[in-house]
Formats: sequence, C-alpha cells, structure tokens
Amino acid sequence: MSTIINAVLLLGILGFASGAFLAFAAKKFEVKEDVRKILAEAVLPGANCGACGFPGCSGFASGFVKGTATADGCLPGKRTGVPEKLKKINAMSDEELEKLFEENNNDIDAIKKAL
Ligand code: SF4
Repeated sequence: MSTIINAVLLLGILGFASGAFLAFAAKKFEVKEDVRKILAEAVLPGANCGACGFPGCSGFASGFVKGTATADGCLPGKRTGVPEKLKKINAMSDEELEKLFEENNNDIDAIKKAL
C-alpha cells in the first residue's frame, strides 16, 4: 500500500515540478508581438492579394513597421481610408499605442474604432 502512495506522491511532485518549469520557461522565453504591427495589420483589408508587393497583409504590415512599405502601398485599402489610419498609427508613440490597447482591453475591433 505504501508503494502505491509513494508512487502517487512522486508522480504528483514530478508533475508539479514540470508544470512550474514550463510556466517559468513560457514566461522567460515569451515572444512579444509588436503592437504597432498587430494594429497595422488589423486596419488592412485582409485580402492578401499581394498588390502591395508583399506576401500578404501580414508581410505588408511588417514592412510598414520596418519602414520598407509606405502608408499608401495597399491599393485595395486606399478607398477605405487605410493610408490615413496607417499614418495615424505611425505618428503614435509606443506608450500611446500600449495605452490604447490597455484602455480597450486588447479588443482589436474597439481599438480600430478608437483610431
Ligand atoms: S495590397 Fe493590401 S490587401 Fe493586398 S496584400 Fe497588400 S496589404 Fe493586403
């Protein structure tokens, strides 16, 4: 009987230790996404047509954040005000962007409306 109890205790301790290690590793090696890129991608039409010369909207958003794409580079988005929104995003500081995300509880639709 004590063998079973010892085995259960050992497995419990190992499980807890493994969980604690994984929680620590997830926090330590967390890859934070750039909120500017997330927001830039969110205001794009999402057609992934490639007319901007980038591999899809995500690629364009990355290029915009890096400075290799211009705000008016998305042709389908020109009629829907994408360049103005991208210029607004570009003009905001990192602190302003993070505050905008916090105020809207990271709800990307609410953030887009607030722009
Ligand atoms: S042109 Fe606009 S909609 Fe098309 S892939 Fe580029 S960013 Fe996306």
